[in-house]
Amino acid sequence: MKFGGTSVGSAERIAQAADLVIAGVRDGHRIVVVTSAMSGITNQLISTAQIATRGNWQPSVRDNFFERHRTVADQLIKDAPSRRKALMEIIGERLDQFEKLCFGLSMVHELTPRILDVISSTGERLLAPLLAGAIATRGVEAEAVEATELIVTNDQFGSADPLMDRTQSKTESRLRPFIERGVVPVITGFIGATEDGVLTTLGRGGSDYSASIIGAALSADEVWIWTDVDGVMTANPGEVPEARTMREISYSEASELAYYGAKVLHHRTILPVYKQNIPLRILNSFNASDPGTRVSRNGHPSARGVKAVTSIRNVSLVTISGKGMQGIPGIAAKTFSAVAAERANIFMISQASSENNLCLVVNAGESRRIVKALRSWLELELIQGHVEDISVDDSIAVVAAIGDRMQGRPGIAGKVFGSLGAAGVNVIAISQGSYERNISFIVSADQAADAVRAIHRAFELDKPSQ
Ligand code: ADP
Ligand code: ASP
Ligand code: MG
Repeated sequence: MKFGGTSVGSAERIAQAADLVIAGVRDGHRIVVVTSAMSGITNQLISTAQIATRGNWQPSVRDNFFERHRTVADQLIKDAPSRRKALMEIIGERLDQFEKLCFGLSMVHELTPRILDVISSTGERLLAPLLAGAIATRGVEAEAVEATELIVTNDQFGSADPLMDRTQSKTESRLRPFIERGVVPVITGFIGATEDGVLTTLGRGGSDYSASIIGAALSADEVWIWTDVDGVMTANPGEVPEARTMREISYSEASELAYYGAKVLHHRTILPVYKQNIPLRILNSFNASDPGTRVSRNGHPSARGVKAVTSIRNVSLVTISGKGMQGIPGIAAKTFSAVAAERANIFMISQASSENNLCLVVNAGESRRIVKALRSWLELELIQGHVEDISVDDSIAVVAAIGDRMQGRPGIAGKVFGSLGAAGVNVIAISQGSYERNISFIVSADQAADAVRAIHRAFELDKPSQ
């Protein structure tokens, strides 16, 4: 079971999370818990670090974090003063480390990805002992465990990837004894460590990924993600109020949705559970009796073809253009090598058969760096005039229509683009892989919500599917 930030956002929510764990244990399940930080904490930690790096460190920040967690501990662990005292000591020590790091940043004025990982992991490191304490106070033995002892990753700070073999053996040997003894391990989500023990994080929203990594490492029967909505919905409910919860979706649908911006799942969550065929459930901790969404191999494909629609913001369109690009081999190869060397992600690629331009969608925060790398990798082509321009446009969004049943069905793309035309949305570029489970396209950012709503309406996704 993984609990997201809002599901552990207050004393009341943590008590509810502890009750859900205990209900599972009483039902005869053996449960491992992964927790996020309290809602809002990770953002505050990161902005505090950034402000400190500019030379402004205010010691009152530490006290605010301490007070927020102390109030919760006072309410949750009323009747066990010694447990509460030990817990507050742990919380105090972790905040001392955070304070020292921020003070250091205010002196050196430099924030490396490695230090930022240590700072942004503090929220999970405060919460795991609190949640374990709340479970133990309710009568089921529980123990906080640092994910640095379990998840071994590469050293890509800020979005590290697990090394599954090492992770599997460490997780198995560290957690199995707890499970056998009926103790509930409560693990810090979001965090891992390199082979040398240096702390890393798995990327923002990464606690979902932690849960699927740990679930796969232990060959769990199921992985349950407790969040604040009734499951994975046909669209972002903030963008499409009539969006509906999908009861069953496939790994590939969930993975496409997560990759194309559905915040409900971290974009890499699916792979570890998919490889072992472990079902994943997305459940609402505010409405625990709802069955939520089940993600599995088959996932009940929808007869409509399109099952959900999503959008990614904060992306940029990089365009490489030149009339002389036609027939010149290697420009695409160099382009992808340049992006790979920057270790950046490409969300979408599009090239028309005239070969006059090649466009890529990348994270907005990485676009300037990528353009610089491209100018250097394609220097010769620029001098020769085969490539005339490498430009970047930050005012775009990618919209994706997703569904397993799109495959081999004529007319879906026609309906998608027909609905956009009727809604007056201009499409800048289009891409569909031969896998045919996703049609994605670029629109200007201010038309993205209209595009999502138009497709949602055209495929009647607000109505239950047959
Ligand atoms: P947690 O803190 O539990 O990890 P997140 O805020 O990361 O929760 O993710 C849940 C949120 O994702 C929901 O509150 C919802 O606003 C948003 N969301 C975006 N797209 C979707 C979607 N397709 N289905 C469900 N929720 C979505
Ligand atoms: N606390 C981390 C974040 O806010 C990880 C997570 O919540 O999944 O990104
Ligand atoms: Mg999340």
